Amino acid sequence: MRRSPRSCGSSPTASARTSEPAVKRTADSARGEASFTLQGAGVSGGIAIGQAHLFSAARLEVAHYEIPPQGIDAEVQRFDAAVAQVRGEFAALEAGVPASARAEMKAFLGLHAMLLNDANLSKAPRELIREQRCNAEWALVQQMEHVTKQFEEIEDAYLRERAQDIVQVVERMLKAMLGTGHAPQAPSHEENVIVVAHDLSPADMMIFKRHEYAGFVTDLGGVTSHTAIVARSLNIPAIVGLHHARSLIRENELLIVDGREGVLIVNPDAQVLEEYRRRSRRIEAERRKLRRLRTRRARTLDGVAVDLQANIELPQDVDEVKEAGAAGIGLFRTEFLFLNRDDLPSEDEQFEAYRKVARSMDRRPVTIRTLDLGADKSINGADRAGPNPALGLRAIRFCLAEPQMFLTQLRAILRASRYGKIRLLIPMLAHSHEIENALAAVRHARETLDDQRIAYDRRVAIGGMIEVPAAALSLEYFMRKLDFLSIGTNDLIQYTLAIDRTDDTVAHLYDPLHPAVLHLVSRTIRAANRAGIPVAVCGEMAGDLSMTRLLLGFGLRQFSMHPAQLLAIKQQVLRTRIDAARATRIGRVNDPEKARQLLSRLNA
Ligand code: PEP
Ligand code: MG
Repeated sequence: MRRSPRSCGSSPTASARTSEPAVKRTADSARGEASFTLQGAGVSGGIAIGQAHLFSAARLEVAHYEIPPQGIDAEVQRFDAAVAQVRGEFAALEAGVPASARAEMKAFLGLHAMLLNDANLSKAPRELIREQRCNAEWALVQQMEHVTKQFEEIEDAYLRERAQDIVQVVERMLKAMLGTGHAPQAPSHEENVIVVAHDLSPADMMIFKRHEYAGFVTDLGGVTSHTAIVARSLNIPAIVGLHHARSLIRENELLIVDGREGVLIVNPDAQVLEEYRRRSRRIEAERRKLRRLRTRRARTLDGVAVDLQANIELPQDVDEVKEAGAAGIGLFRTEFLFLNRDDLPSEDEQFEAYRKVARSMDRRPVTIRTLDLGADKSINGADRAGPNPALGLRAIRFCLAEPQMFLTQLRAILRASRYGKIRLLIPMLAHSHEIENALAAVRHARETLDDQRIAYDRRVAIGGMIEVPAAALSLEYFMRKLDFLSIGTNDLIQYTLAIDRTDDTVAHLYDPLHPAVLHLVSRTIRAANRAGIPVAVCGEMAGDLSMTRLLLGFGLRQFSMHPAQLLAIKQQVLRTRIDAARATRIGRVNDPEKARQLLSRLNA
């Protein structure tokens, strides 16, 4: 294999992980490139075949590759050109500072110019290029890491913080290099392109919604992270947790993404390619067959009706919801309206978005979840995540801390309620006072509308998400105060098992069949059914084919999932006998292995 990803030092991205890449090298591919396979976690089914496009979300995540001996001089020149360009930029910036500007402004620019001219940044990377044959970006980032590490050890806090200035200067140099020849070009035929990234945020994924990529793969991420959830909604094959894909794969290499098995094949040979093309045609044929179920009513073999609804992130997702024949929207994750922008959406803008969804669902229920910001979804520029974002100021906690923002959203939702059948859902409730305060905020929003004589539906139901174990264990209070419940299994599992759902290093511990999880889920469904309170599951468990019968057996009759999964789940419902599902002992065993065996028996 001609590539030696580690010959230029360890990657800044890969260095966060200590595991070695699980690379299986096979015979050379049809195009003469070495073929290898990476294993990750499939998050979105199907097979994509296309060319790699390396994507950098983080500004300092750069491609690294080996320069051939005859290309070294040109690479050093490329580096020198970037240094010269940034030097020119600083001079122009300094010249443009108005005389009235504060003295710190000039001092700041002077400091950055000085850092740039220091041999550590302007000379040392040249040596790395020559000695290790690194590409220029990679040499610069390595050198930056070396220097900033020394700064971290300085006791003086002011000097220690100067490491940030170095990072900013390096970012500017990297940007300059992107304009000097080697940067991957934006692909023109997106439908044949597979995005390869080290990590993607939910906000990055929303940008992908505007594209038509064939698939994507990332080094980091868990299967129920919001990034993976949005990937599923894009309905393209995707894999997360590949660890080294971004550093091993090169721009334009041929890839096969098997999103069901979590397998990525780089530079496949002709035989493998043909096999995957065959599999891809088979999956497409299965999908076409499923489409025939679109108008069928979801009933079990013994005649029990099941309500299959859909999850959305943006109003435009409604087309897909209707395409899938969903009975309603069980979860509208409204925080996605707030991402990738520098301002907050106004009341009118939100109202239009909610009204559009309500109208197009045509009296079918639309469950609008109030903002679940925080954790892995933050507003541009907001730095309030805290040391442990998943346990921090998130969802209802964030809304109660920002009453004006919450009021704006509640008013917009209530105003839209005249145009359809809207229900309001509050995320991440754990305490009785949070329920009280959330209900008080809704009352206040109504009063402000009443004062202005603005009409809204006075019967809007208010529900709560059960996604914190504390909520699942104190259901009586929730059922007394709220009109309906929706179980968010993604967070319920995260918080029950104490594993960050976005962290692939603990992804193997994410187990929906853990007895504690099954206990909380079944307990919630049974208690709500006994009390006559509508209950749904809207986490990824609802769209997991292997869990459908188990949840039906627990007594669940309302599921909400991504539209892409809906018809497969309907097919499973149509093939299920409730009595058999109810008889399973899965919820009563204490051994997850045993639970897995019983589950495969139930699903056989
Ligand atoms: C959940 O936690 O299961 C859920 C549906 O909410 P989200 O995935 O948006 O956190
Ligand atoms: Mg949640």
